[in-house]
Amino acid sequence: MSGVSTSPAENTTRFSAIKFVFLDRDGVINRKAPDGEYVTSWQDIQILSGAERAIALLNRAGHKVIVVTNQRGIALGRYSEPDLRSIHEELHAHLGNFGAHLDAIYYCPHDNGQCTCRKPGIGMFEQAFRDFPEACPQNSVMIGDSNSDMIAGASAGMKTILITDNPSTGSALVGQPSASGRSLLEVVERYLAC
Ligand SMILES: [Mg+2]
Ligand SMILES: [Zn+2]
Repeated sequence: MSGVSTSPAENTTRFSAIKFVFLDRDGVINRKAPDGEYVTSWQDIQILSGAERAIALLNRAGHKVIVVTNQRGIALGRYSEPDLRSIHEELHAHLGNFGAHLDAIYYCPHDNGQCTCRKPGIGMFEQAFRDFPEACPQNSVMIGDSNSDMIAGASAGMKTILITDNPSTGSALVGQPSASGRSLLEVVERYLAC
């Protein structure tokens, strides 16, 4: 899929209301594990090129940056919630070295069909909207690499941006993202840090 080409002025207008940037984790911040495999420790994490800088740019633009990640590997027993929390502590520390920070990380530890938080469900967004009362669908965007991210964001009433490198859409994309780009850094520089 090619990027949606628009003029810089249009880009600024389209995303000018955005204050809250929701990020998927695997395939957006770090390289997604191959199908059927899971990121089970910090040693498995390969940060995608420019992701730290992209998050720092969002921070500097005054946006809140919130991760929403499906972690079904917990339900499958591949790793534990303490394992996941320790990965996220390392991630926070790593980003800190680049002057970048995440304002919150929400995860769904459940298997398919067990909950309302697993994307494409919108439970993690609903929780974030409770925790950040100034956040609403109109000032939020969901950035992800999969169909379930795009469906979840759209179901929550948010704009969506698809990351097209290292795609894990699986099936044909349902609906049309508001925008797309090859990497988090590319879409942040193009749409959100202007
Ligand atoms: Mg992903
Ligand atoms: Zn869940």
